Amino acid sequence: MSIIKEKDKKYIANTYNRFPIEIVSGKGSLVFDENGKRYIDMGSGIGVTSFGISDPEWVGAVSEQLNKVQHMSNLYYTEPCVKLAELLCEATGFKKVFFGNSGAEADECAIKVARKYAAQKKGSGCYKIITLINSFHGRTVTTLAATGQEVFHKDFLPLTDGFLHTPANDFEALKKLASENEIAAIMLECVQGEGGVIALDKEFLTSVAEYAAENDILLIVDEVQTGNGRTGELYGYMNYGIMPDIITTAKGLGGGLPLGAALLGEKVESVLGFGDHGSTYGGNPIACAGAYSVISRIDKEFLASVKAKSELVFKTLSGAKGIESVSGMGLMIGIKTERSVKEVVAECNERGVLCLTAKDKLRLLPALNIETELLTEALEIIKQVCAG
Ligand SMILES: *Cc1c(COP(=O)(O)O)cnc(C)c1O
Repeated sequence: MSIIKEKDKKYIANTYNRFPIEIVSGKGSLVFDENGKRYIDMGSGIGVTSFGISDPEWVGAVSEQLNKVQHMSNLYYTEPCVKLAELLCEATGFKKVFFGNSGAEADECAIKVARKYAAQKKGSGCYKIITLINSFHGRTVTTLAATGQEVFHKDFLPLTDGFLHTPANDFEALKKLASENEIAAIMLECVQGEGGVIALDKEFLTSVAEYAAENDILLIVDEVQTGNGRTGELYGYMNYGIMPDIITTAKGLGGGLPLGAALLGEKVESVLGFGDHGSTYGGNPIACAGAYSVISRIDKEFLASVKAKSELVFKTLSGAKGIESVSGMGLMIGIKTERSVKEVVAECNERGVLCLTAKDKLRLLPALNIETELLTEALEIIKQVCAG
């Protein structure tokens, strides 16, 4: 074992069961390990490096800001976060942005906004939030409570009070739960990522949105994974023709630097006041300058290229030998394989393709600008490995 792998085992907390690969460099959708072996990156750091490794435009934007000012407290004005917030609001119709550093923090902000809004509108007894079974919303004690998967809860009880879970795509069950409780908000992913890359039914999500609006229950869409072009639209909800009250995002937003955001709609834009919330690093100038270079490039034409690549993936893998099903949206793809997914990932690694998993599925989240040639090469290897 290399010295880095040994020291990692010795000094890094044991929370990650890493693959036996050390990545030392990369370019675009290619990365290289300590022995110079080449891999096609089909995970993009779990949907983070939206334009790949060391994308020149992103590096340029980040470097330029790095040479101006790397950080100021939120006690002063800085330009990058304002420019980014304006861009996000103009592209979506949301009114205000709160910046944090991660997906979990973006969700925490949304939860605080929902609690305050509901307390003001309906009284302090109205604080419960409905989320979906099989969802994933983060690792903090509160976002774990929101996460509708018991496996993440055990060993960390008691979690934050006030979260109710209901099955995805069962509107009647959700309505019943909502009518029997005082509900501040409904929070969901429009494509469940960690849960197995499963898109919600359109009818379910539009019914939920309508019901929430009628009952002044806030609709929060967790776009941490589905956001920033990943599904073929700028944000996942845009595939459904709905308008949430709040969306949260992170992962691909920063393009490789830690950045999270909660986008607040008309109803809630003024809920948070001075001192209600904050983050030392939130809206960091470097992270925001990088994010601006990401978001400003995700236009109609670019999204069409994401959709075209998505079609290529679905066409190539659907019905292939050893593949039971292909699910997801855009370049967020889940593959149910006949072989154990662990074996498939290990063999893909061996053959120079880095893939992710989600539960018992193979998960692909390539950079949005992956070259068609590399994508085709990776899909061919995945196909061969799945065929056993
Ligand atoms: C990854 C993820 C999170 C948590 O994001 P972190 O940046 O790891 O805190 C929350 N929600 C969804 C849907 C995610 O995919």
